[in-house]
Amino acid sequence: MNYQEKELIIFDLDGTLADSKAPLDNDMADLVIKLLERKKVAVISGGTFSQFEKQFLSNLPASTDLLKNLFLLPTTGTRLYAWRDSGIEKNSAELSAGWHQDYSENISPEDRNNIIKSINETWEEAGYRLPEQIFGERIEDRESQVTFSALGQEAPLDLKKAWDPDKSKRQRIVSILKDKIPHFDVSMGGSTSVDVTMRGVNKAYGVNKLSDFLKIPIDKMLFIGDEIIPSGNDYSVKEAGVDCINVSGKRETEEIIKELL
Ligand SMILES: [Mg+2]
Repeated sequence: MNYQEKELIIFDLDGTLADSKAPLDNDMADLVIKLLERKKVAVISGGTFSQFEKQFLSNLPASTDLLKNLFLLPTTGTRLYAWRDSGIEKNSAELSAGWHQDYSENISPEDRNNIIKSINETWEEAGYRLPEQIFGERIEDRESQVTFSALGQEAPLDLKKAWDPDKSKRQRIVSILKDKIPHFDVSMGGSTSVDVTMRGVNKAYGVNKLSDFLKIPIDKMLFIGDEIIPSGNDYSVKEAGVDCINVSGKRETEEIIKELL
């Protein structure tokens, strides 16, 4: 693969640029800023925009001049945010910080309620016991996405990593839930989570939207993620034909960025 001809570098966030829900560290922030000086960069994650702000943007001291090269796709590509000078047409809500939302593919409230009910049924049918302690919300309604986190959104990282290291629990949940809500996309997100979005609205959808907006063809893109496996939430990007590199964590991502530079 020729890195030099890639114009847009797309990253997953949790497990790729940072540990799950953990802030971007200084080394990674430096590398991302250097990359923004040369390429367009996008980040696609299951988290919400406010999670992006907390975890990523607040630890990325990039100048506003560089931010126009950055594109944010929270909630698995169901939404796209661009900096005000990015060249993308502003047709939707402006945010005070200078980010504007270009689109949001929301699920109807009725469908969201049905999804939440189906997630609860799935957990029972899968035969898993309720964790002794739950940290924060377990099922979060993010409007364009419903996210189930087995131990709760705010669970400590070590507990999250120990819960389903071989992904078998989440795979079981995904397979049961898919049958209950066939009109939605169901995929594994972070280390304990499963995300539900509109059918066909996934990371690949976000990538194709970016391709249209930026006039960058798929073969000029590179995607780096840690869940590029069937039923993983990064897999759709590979299916869309984007060159992908699967990483085991942020240290491997750093090495790739260094090669890109
Ligand atoms: Mg990930």
